[in-house]
Amino acid sequence: MNEREAREAVVRTAVALADQGYLAGVGGNLALRIDAERFAVTPSASDYYAMTADDICVLRLDNLEQLAGGGKPSVESGLHARALQARPDCMASVHTHQPVASAFTLLDRPLPMHGAEARRLIGAEVPMCAYAPSGTSWLASNVGKRVRADLNAYLMRNHGAVCLGATLEDACTVVRLLEQEAIAWFRRALAAQPDNRLYRQTLEFLEEDLR
Ligand SMILES: [Zn+2]
Repeated sequence: MNEREAREAVVRTAVALADQGYLAGVGGNLALRIDAERFAVTPSASDYYAMTADDICVLRLDNLEQLAGGGKPSVESGLHARALQARPDCMASVHTHQPVASAFTLLDRPLPMHGAEARRLIGAEVPMCAYAPSGTSWLASNVGKRVRADLNAYLMRNHGAVCLGATLEDACTVVRLLEQEAIAWFRRALAAQPDNRLYRQTLEFLEEDLR
């Protein structure tokens, strides 16, 4: 993939994810490997609907040196670089603040995958990576050390998710399946514990959103 194609694909995907509510405003960001040395990443705190291919930053994978792009690269560039380096089979890394999977990160536990498609495309169980503030190398390290060849999604405590894929399309499928699995988890949990306020409020929020 050439640099221009990568930048255009990143813009297109960011708008599609924002349309589906997975980025929660300016939250979330995404990265696409261009070649062995470089990756394209969304700029920091940008309006995805106003963003053009020229705004997409190009960084070196090994040291995050900025090679192109007018804006300041996403604060999670180090997280994406770490994930892409740990997974040479993955071209894309998407960080979301998707509503229900993010609510799940308030719980300190892994999320098991039940559906056949989720198990095949994500893995058996999505781990909960330890908390660290956004944009820190500490957070990149907490996620990076959990990255495995047979797992395409990672939850970050009190924050959101990182979804990996061989392509941007695959990473977006992982985002969608992860959200479905988180919704299904809350539904099962609420059925088992009808008085649990977090479970109930998460699902109420979801229903309002769908209305
Ligand atoms: Zn974030």
